[in-house]
Amino acid sequence: MTPRMTDEEALALLGSRDLLDVGRRAHEVRLRLVPGDLATFIVDRNINYTNVCVSGCAFCAFHCGPGSAEAYVLSRHDIFAKIQETLDLGGTAVMLQGGLHPDLDIAYFEALFRGIKERFDITIHSLSPPEIVYISNLSHLSVRETLERLHEAGLDSLPGGGAEILVDRVREQVAPGKANTGAWLEVMREAHRLGIPGTATMMFGSVETLEERVAHMRAIRDLQDETGGFRAFIPWTFQPGHTRLEGVIEQATGVDYLTMLAVSRLYLDNIANIQASWVTQGLKIGQVALRFGANDLGSTMIEENVVAATGLRVQANRDDLVHAIRTAGFTPAQRRTDYSLVQVFG
Ligand code: SF4
Repeated sequence: MTPRMTDEEALALLGSRDLLDVGRRAHEVRLRLVPGDLATFIVDRNINYTNVCVSGCAFCAFHCGPGSAEAYVLSRHDIFAKIQETLDLGGTAVMLQGGLHPDLDIAYFEALFRGIKERFDITIHSLSPPEIVYISNLSHLSVRETLERLHEAGLDSLPGGGAEILVDRVREQVAPGKANTGAWLEVMREAHRLGIPGTATMMFGSVETLEERVAHMRAIRDLQDETGGFRAFIPWTFQPGHTRLEGVIEQATGVDYLTMLAVSRLYLDNIANIQASWVTQGLKIGQVALRFGANDLGSTMIEENVVAATGLRVQANRDDLVHAIRTAGFTPAQRRTDYSLVQVFG
């Protein structure tokens, strides 16, 4: 059995800049954990049900305050129309995510999820640990009760959004108004215990050190040892455009991204899938990422609003992802949220 990568080794690799060597090693591990030449993607849709948020994270260009002229909450009718459009495009899942809205409590989400499940055969991969913490506080419920009720109403899977870097020194600087490290991990622990699997993410390239990136991966790896509930890890780079950190932070480069991706593949030996973030990196780096530890290109983008608010606007349909994967030397396959296959494009 291959010995587990230590924190010191991960740190040395992150600082080494030996890009091709770390990429080659990551690809070997990828082939061991996900054998064969399939590279997958999902057809789903992000629906940002509201942009109202009381958190005010420094890195976020998407949110606005409750009284703002730009504030919106999508109607049930609009959400259902977007889901129907997703199904018409061959989609299998919906990712509802929004800000921390002071009027949207557990009853709103229960009714919404029940309404979706009554009308559509679709996976609800939605919300994130900070939203769960906020809804539970607003509704005077424990995190466990909140998750139980949402699961009962139709929540199938919990995205790992809002993780940023799971180190409180960093969170206090970039996201002081939302769930801290312990709370984020506790939501995921409870979700996994209740049979709600999910993903883990990392937004890097803001104010964190390399040591803090390793600490983030260690927190995820330790929890995965305990619960086994993470289906995938998705690192992406902070996009400074139109945020309070624009001009303060030097944006991460393609080399930073590929190195971080490859080291995460090597370090997180207990998580099967690593997703490339073509939304922040573009499809060309997304193709290269498939040789740096990633086995999945994530989602087609029917609609994307959060990264787009930073000025980076991307869209790709199923044909675009099939073409990108095929020309990168892999066999494309559409998957579901649980990574079972819908269709292989041989
Ligand atoms: S990142 Fe999320 S929690 Fe933070 S301000 Fe934006 S919408 Fe709110």
